[in-house]
Amino acid sequence: AKDAGGGEHCDYEPLLHANAEEKRRLENSLRSALEKNELLLHYQPVVDAKTEEVVGFEALVRWNSSEHGSVSPAKFIPLAEDTRLIVPIGTWVLQQACNEAAASWPENVKINVNVSPEQLLEPEFATTVVRALSQSGLDPKRLEIEVTESIFLRDASIARKALEQCMALGCSVALDDFGTGYSSLGYLRKLKFSTIKVDRIFVQGAAQHSPESLAIIRAVVAMADSLGMTTTAEGVENDDEAEMIRQLGCTKIQGFHFGRPMPAADARLIFGRPHGG
Ligand code: C2E
Ligand code: CA
Ligand code: CA
Ligand code: CA
Repeated sequence: AKDAGGGEHCDYEPLLHANAEEKRRLENSLRSALEKNELLLHYQPVVDAKTEEVVGFEALVRWNSSEHGSVSPAKFIPLAEDTRLIVPIGTWVLQQACNEAAASWPENVKINVNVSPEQLLEPEFATTVVRALSQSGLDPKRLEIEVTESIFLRDASIARKALEQCMALGCSVALDDFGTGYSSLGYLRKLKFSTIKVDRIFVQGAAQHSPESLAIIRAVVAMADSLGMTTTAEGVENDDEAEMIRQLGCTKIQGFHFGRPMPAADARLIFGRPHGG
């Protein structure tokens, strides 16, 4: 609106309206996605930087909507967070991922599960984790919860307590997308993360020989090391990047070069267990 009085003919209103309408439709569909069985998990391998052995998988949710087709998590996760639908969705993800890992993978292979702040702030969160572990029979040591720095923006102490409860169960916690949020290093003193995940923007930068990106990765690796934490480089897409990351001393690598997110059946094939169990 160039002119507030001009009401009917402003340029952007129909667009805004369409977006709000589209969002509402998406939200309604998402509300029934769980019961309609439209959600599924894909698994992306995490490899040891030195041996290139698969040491874990990250569970990444997918939505095949009957009305909207396949919707990217970059689109529906923020919507799920806004509407708190992430709480039941996240519970489902956790249970499903633990079931798959316990039933189909070797005992030394971990499962990484993304957890949103809204989930952590639920008083029930630790109970949800306990239930996922007991119903699947998964050894808690095999479950790694991934959180981003954003959990410290709101009720930091509640989030911290919830994560400490999970650690007390034997689970580990990874700090995801490190360095891309509203970083404060203060929380690294207070919470014993097992892993810092170095975001793809630094990996990409380093691949383009950005001295700043290289310096940042080096510093993160050194810091993690002195804190007794490991590092996982995200978004490694080719051999050159993998080699560079190895030289920088990251512990683990994840990225299209070692495997895209894949259906459970394909993840099982990596261990030669096509039928699971
Ligand atoms: P994330 O946790 O940072 O996950 C990594 C994202 O990077 C995934 O996108 C993955 O497919 C993509 N990726 C992996 N390797 C490469 C690579 O080599 N190159 C490039 N360009 N991309 C790569 P995806 O699956 O679209 O997920 C996007 C985000 O959605 C995730 O980012 C995470 O924040 C969120 N998400 C996904 N599943 C869940 C979930 O179950 N719960 C919650 N709370 N969030 C989830
Ligand atoms: Ca993640
Ligand atoms: Ca990440
Ligand atoms: Ca990310």
